[in-house]
Amino acid sequence: MTTAKFSEIGRILREHQRFAVMSHVRPDGDALGSQLALALSLQQLGKEVRVWNEDGMLEKYSFLPRAELVTKPPSAPEDFDCAIALDTAIQNRLGTALAAVHSKLWINIDHHLSNPGYGDVVYVDPDAPATAEIIFRLIKSQNLPFNRDIAENLYAAISTDTGSFQYPKTSARTFEIAAELIRAGLDVGRLNQQLYENYPRRRLELLRELLRTMRFEHGGRVASVSLSLKTAAELGVLPEDNEGLIDHLRAIRGVIVAVFFEELGDGKVRVSMRSKNEAVDVCAICQKFGGGGHALAAGARVRGTLAEVEEKVLEEIGDVLKSHS
Ligand code: AMP
Ligand code: MN
Ligand code: MN
Repeated sequence: MTTAKFSEIGRILREHQRFAVMSHVRPDGDALGSQLALALSLQQLGKEVRVWNEDGMLEKYSFLPRAELVTKPPSAPEDFDCAIALDTAIQNRLGTALAAVHSKLWINIDHHLSNPGYGDVVYVDPDAPATAEIIFRLIKSQNLPFNRDIAENLYAAISTDTGSFQYPKTSARTFEIAAELIRAGLDVGRLNQQLYENYPRRRLELLRELLRTMRFEHGGRVASVSLSLKTAAELGVLPEDNEGLIDHLRAIRGVIVAVFFEELGDGKVRVSMRSKNEAVDVCAICQKFGGGGHALAAGARVRGTLAEVEEKVLEEIGDVLKSHS
């Protein structure tokens, strides 16, 4: 894959007028924060921007500055000069936003190792801990508009995608960027409270139920939990409620791989995987099931019942662990 230069992307952004800025289905903080930050910078540049996500803005991120800009895509497609996919490992993870955008020119900015490089102009940096870090570097290097609202969106995106500056791709540069974002005037304490101390009670009720399903395999090196549709309905949880709960499994001593199985309504199971060991690449495991992601954090949607998918996936992880021990 050849990676574009920021100067080429900067030139395209200045030379065109109508933009669609999109991110992946079931968005996380990096997807939504990156979208808002780039869209706000483009708006300041006098551009016309649509900010679309299949799921729209999530309740838990609706405190982000100018969150109202993120909407669900319309059912009738619209024409754009330039479409920009952010934080999206494969193009079809744009979901309904993909069909709603007609554009000759596609830019793909991402940090997923498994990104195949779709689109005309591709900037994929698997060493970046968050897509938002790439957006910050693009904005700064190309002298694009920057302000406190943009800084808050970028900070929220980087903080959530690095597990609060903990995951291994967090670098000196990540902290330098965080420092620059704070200098733009954001209130770290208030932002962290909005991000991490404002959960709905049902999220903890969900955690309580998940911990009842916790199982350990392969000598305690694999920990997993599962969520059935029935339990999700009984608790009234939203899909966004489980982001981050898998970290409780990863945090256990001796656990190398943590897995979250979530029954979906369409005969598939969403598999979420985390690894604590660079030698155990969960992206490669998820790719075997049609998914992707990063070496230490990946996912897939696998056809089958909860029990079938659990068995297949846990067995595959066992095989990979055996080949490493
Ligand atoms: P999650 O476990 O959903 O937080 O996802 C972990 C990482 O894997 C994220 O960076 C996702 O973008 C990526 N990912 C999750 N599900 C898929 C999938 N079905 N296909 C490709 N990448 C995925
Ligand atoms: Mn993401
Ligand atoms: Mn990301």
